[in-house]
Amino acid sequence: MANSNVTLHTRLRVLAMNLWWTWHPEVISIFTDLDPYLWRRVDHNPIAFLNQTTPDEIENRASELVLHSRINYAFRRLDEYIKKRKAWGAVHGGNLNSRPVVYFSAEFGLHESLPIYSGGLGILAGDHLKSASDMGIPMIGIGLLYQQGYFSQLLNQEGWQQENYVNLDIKNLPLQAVRDANGQPLVVMIDTRTGPLSARVWKLQVGRVPLMLLDSNVEENCKEDCELTSRLYGGDDRLRIRQEILLGIGGARILQGLNIFPGVVHLNEGHSAFAILEGIRRYMEYDGIPFHRAHRRVSQYVVFTTHTPVAAGHDRFPPDLVEEQLGLFREKLGLSHDDFMALGRVNPSDKSEPFCMTVLALKGSRRSNGVSALHGHVSRLMWQPLWPSKSESESPIGHITNGVHVLSWLAPQMYQLFETRLGPDWSTRMVHPDIWEMVDEIDDGELWETHQSLKMRLIRFCRRRLHTQSVRLGHDETVNLIDQILDPDVLTIGCARRFAAYKRGDLILSQTERLVQLIQDASRPIQIIFAGKAHPRDDDGKRLLQRVAQFSYNTAYRNRVVFVENYDYNVARHLVQGVDVWLNTPQRPLEACGTSGQKVLLNGGLNLSVLDGWWNEAYEGNNGFAIGHGGMHNDSSIQYKRDAEYLYETLEKEVIPLYYDRDVGGIPHQWVSFMKNTIKTLGWRFSADRMVKDYAERFYLKAATALSAETMY
Ligand SMILES: *Cc1c(COP(=O)(O)O)cnc(C)c1O
Repeated sequence: MANSNVTLHTRLRVLAMNLWWTWHPEVISIFTDLDPYLWRRVDHNPIAFLNQTTPDEIENRASELVLHSRINYAFRRLDEYIKKRKAWGAVHGGNLNSRPVVYFSAEFGLHESLPIYSGGLGILAGDHLKSASDMGIPMIGIGLLYQQGYFSQLLNQEGWQQENYVNLDIKNLPLQAVRDANGQPLVVMIDTRTGPLSARVWKLQVGRVPLMLLDSNVEENCKEDCELTSRLYGGDDRLRIRQEILLGIGGARILQGLNIFPGVVHLNEGHSAFAILEGIRRYMEYDGIPFHRAHRRVSQYVVFTTHTPVAAGHDRFPPDLVEEQLGLFREKLGLSHDDFMALGRVNPSDKSEPFCMTVLALKGSRRSNGVSALHGHVSRLMWQPLWPSKSESESPIGHITNGVHVLSWLAPQMYQLFETRLGPDWSTRMVHPDIWEMVDEIDDGELWETHQSLKMRLIRFCRRRLHTQSVRLGHDETVNLIDQILDPDVLTIGCARRFAAYKRGDLILSQTERLVQLIQDASRPIQIIFAGKAHPRDDDGKRLLQRVAQFSYNTAYRNRVVFVENYDYNVARHLVQGVDVWLNTPQRPLEACGTSGQKVLLNGGLNLSVLDGWWNEAYEGNNGFAIGHGGMHNDSSIQYKRDAEYLYETLEKEVIPLYYDRDVGGIPHQWVSFMKNTIKTLGWRFSADRMVKDYAERFYLKAATALSAETMY
């Protein structure tokens, strides 16, 4: 064997350096088998794990456990994956195979060991890269490396959120320094009126897709700029616009530094929209064309995805700040202040209007979309004033509904069940609806037992977490009865989300007595697992969270209502794999898509949700439960009361009776038939593979073709 002198330690390091491992449980199980306690202690971080073990220790443990062949097999599988030629992109990718898609996002959620995401937007971006990699679509990600990431959450006695920030340790992360053509560390630099801003670049390998992360913590910067990329969504407007300058302009300059010509630039949300301006500047400089032609040309290859109809979700910067930070750049484009501001204004002649990143992105992209059918519609109405001469249906915003990266969210036990029923290659063929017909062949009892074992796993996870939390909070009753917390035979509802007002995470608490009756029902009780963070500066969100946490602290039903702290990738994975029902109660139509409910689909969970976002196009009566009929009211407090009433009614009349309707063997056949309908018809439709394929067919290939028709190089 040519490679026989390569140590297992080295092979494991190769595996750990590519995030491919995060969606391959067979690699994770190597680490948990080697040392489960260390694996937990290093927060599921394989690089940290290897940094704390010597090659000899690995060799010895592996021999004791006979792990050699598993490690070598995983190593070969990764190699085959990287080299695979027959993926979708190689066959259908056309122009993209010479000019990749460059995907910009302010956050990427890839795994709990890389806390450079805050929530849904980041997870979506991570899932997008993973599916692009699986499907062989040439792509490069661009983002920021936050040295402190997003906070970790603890609650105090009063249920008030405490935020904890820790510095990431670069040597424990799978990062490689990016070098330029001369072998020097690549540094990008941007001039602004408050001084130049520099950043170095790290590469994170996500399967076949490299993700470039900008890091402002370099010698060239003043102290303030070194801390520019410390935290995700921290700081004031000035810090934020400088972060976005770094992401958009700095990100585009990475490509120049590496001589990469993008075929498509995909802006995931408006944070990175300054990339449009850098594209324009480059064409003006290299091709000597005027601003307007360069702007039109750039818009040919820019794809823009907007993610929220909530006004506060769209960055807006005051004119003075824009001039201070982008004045030098504006001069290079040969624009007056007003002309520059017009790029980010709905009404260019309104001199008081701030500069909106979404407007810049919409004006600078030929192809843009919302993230569900309903959100597409809402976005067209919302941005209608940008195209005053067009009707809603003519407005150039379409929609592509989000999906989730199935292998990142699917329980290994479910994977195996599908493997035996649908065939070993089911996961690469999941976007073909016909393979899912075989789900009907799965025995009800087998599906139910698999689900129950996953629920038990979730319960054990919650008990471990609750134990630690309760010791800290001095909740002695909970500590003493920890083995009675949650019961696998009780209908289990998961309710985890960011605590923001429009998500109404407390809707289920609105009629407390009625809820307590359901929880304490003698024969057909329910139990609820809550989780979620509030933004550090959102006190309303924190009050919502507090209300939920305090409810869970009540000793009268502490065994049936729990709040698991620090909602992150890890907590989410346990929850979506083990719950019976995923509860989602946003104020319609403000949840643009919502992806957490999609994560339960193939795990056999059922959705109970307001008809908003993706659920509005997924619900069919026999594949989950709807709260209300999609009604809306101008007065949000009336809508709140109505939806609460619908929620209780649906629980009492549909969800609970269906769940507890059992045969003599204890199997709820009707419920299982809902599970099967969900798996069969929804799993693939709301997968990131389907989503990425939609982007490729409807946007990327067209954008890349339009661009190559215009440019020679
Ligand atoms: C999936 C996920 C989200 C997004 O959930 P939504 O219901 O779409 O808001 C947020 N946070 C974490 C940790 C997730 O895994």
